Amino acid sequence: MMLKRTHTCGSLRLEDVGKKVTLAGWVYWYRNHGNLIFIDVRDRKGLTQLVFNYETQPQAHKVAGTLRCEWVIAAVGRVQPRSEGMANPKLPTGQIEVAVEQLEILNPSRTPPFEIEDGDKILEEHRLRHRYLDLRRPRMQHILQTRHRVTKVVRDYFDSLGFWEIETPMLAKSTPEGARDYLVPSRLHENCFYALPQSPQLFKQILMVSGVDKYFQIVRCCRDEDPRADRQVEFTQIDVEMSFVDVDDVIGVNENLVAKVWSEILGVEVVTPMARMSYKQAVTDYGTDRPDLRFGMKLKDISGIAKNCGFRVFTSTIEKGGVVRGLCAPTVDADGRPDVLTRNYIEKDLTELVGEYGAKGLVWMKVAGDNGKLACKSGIAKHFAPEQIGRIINIFDAKENDVLLFVADTEKNANKALAPLRCRIGRRLKLYEPNSFEFVWVVDFPLLEWNEAESRFDSLHHPFTAPVEEDIDKLDSDPANICSQAYDIVVNGSEIGGGSIRIHKPELQRKVFDLLKISPEQAQARFGFFLRALEYGAPPHGGIAFGLDRLIMLLVDTDNIRDVIAFPKTLRGQCLLTDAPSEVDPKQLDELNLRTQKHSHAPEQQTQ
Ligand code: ASP
Repeated sequence: MMLKRTHTCGSLRLEDVGKKVTLAGWVYWYRNHGNLIFIDVRDRKGLTQLVFNYETQPQAHKVAGTLRCEWVIAAVGRVQPRSEGMANPKLPTGQIEVAVEQLEILNPSRTPPFEIEDGDKILEEHRLRHRYLDLRRPRMQHILQTRHRVTKVVRDYFDSLGFWEIETPMLAKSTPEGARDYLVPSRLHENCFYALPQSPQLFKQILMVSGVDKYFQIVRCCRDEDPRADRQVEFTQIDVEMSFVDVDDVIGVNENLVAKVWSEILGVEVVTPMARMSYKQAVTDYGTDRPDLRFGMKLKDISGIAKNCGFRVFTSTIEKGGVVRGLCAPTVDADGRPDVLTRNYIEKDLTELVGEYGAKGLVWMKVAGDNGKLACKSGIAKHFAPEQIGRIINIFDAKENDVLLFVADTEKNANKALAPLRCRIGRRLKLYEPNSFEFVWVVDFPLLEWNEAESRFDSLHHPFTAPVEEDIDKLDSDPANICSQAYDIVVNGSEIGGGSIRIHKPELQRKVFDLLKISPEQAQARFGFFLRALEYGAPPHGGIAFGLDRLIMLLVDTDNIRDVIAFPKTLRGQCLLTDAPSEVDPKQLDELNLRTQKHSHAPEQQTQ
């Protein structure tokens, strides 16, 4: 009969000395000193040192000599203090060891392709291919446990407020979050497809029409988007919807959830109510609607001065309707290290960075002390009159040795490059504590954004977002300037959630579809079921969805989204463990009435 464990590998302490115990786990490390063999046995709770003594237990000692890393064993023995000088203060079990009397090999293991403790250093591809080994690492177990604890906090929190967790379909109709759908062919309905949900948006709104009042769900969503480092094609949302609420109600409930998660998981007390910032202010000061508020270094516009300077790049950009925007950075970092922003760093690294975001160049000047007055002394400074330089220094409140960095482009493009530039410099200069968190709700988004290529409006969030009431009349006269009732929650420059108060009147919903150039026929075909539901007494309602994976990334401090998902996909959407996606049996395709190119060519090849 298999030996049954009495303790985990992380639980024994000095108080347990003298107890007879049984431990089970994986061989983490072994050292053979002849008469004495030491084995570290590991489970998800920790490590315990086993010692096998040839003199007292020759049989167990003999078996121990055959053990290798990652074999699964069970050992019976007595807890004893480690001998003088052998204690390991870094391990919770480091004061004791177990003198083994009986050892059972529960399962040997092939030699692992990498050493478990080296997981961080080895190629991610290997880790993903052998994910079961990778997940044995204490770091990965910590992440899995944290994720479990977060979802438990979320469920308990919403339950305590009377929310119900309700599942919505995985096989659904195409939903309109704006990304490409994953399609699933229907066997019983020829030529018809389900779509995997991009979010349960319409179902949660319909649940409000159904009188559910307070809904949440921890739900998997799928968007067939192009690869990006912090994205997964399959991801998890904490999805929330509430009836009879306004923006403040939704924000209140959800910022308290975030504060609770941070307090329970990290012991960090988040101040509520959290700060709010308008979309316009965020874009003006930080170049993005995801501002990192851990440090200042706000962006400023010097177009008014630059339009009269002698530098062609600036003047011609402004003539074409563009702007010159920039920021002012100290060159001394937070530790007092001088000259952190060297000429070489600016002209190579930083210029490359803005180039990656589409900027044609990065222009800079350094502030110098000139007879007690400040001046700028670099290449482009000569194109400015001293009085203009003085005004620029004033705008940025620049000090001696500061560096001023500028991008000249359309406002949108300049911001696109300056926002990551600001973050890169902030990190380089250590302008913030790495473990601090700055939360902000970004509010007052425009409802619509003009899509030049298709000459129509796009929703900035999604088509079900309500405009503020005062702006409803602008739907006909001035759609570009309608403010929406949407909100995003941002922490340290990363958006962790977003939502809105919804449109609950069918006429208004139709009008918005019109502006998005969704014809009544298209609206009927895609969302007819939803428009019909709105006609049967839809209450005012609103909600939000958090990206659970991103939330966990912040809580466990990783920038690799694959680290927080047990079985993630690569950037190219592959599961290296199972080899999905993969070809299927032609019979399966026949049943679905589908032909792949390869499959449909097969019969021709046979006839040749
Ligand atoms: N469904 C939206 C999303 O996934 C969130 C929301 O509006 O509740 O982004």
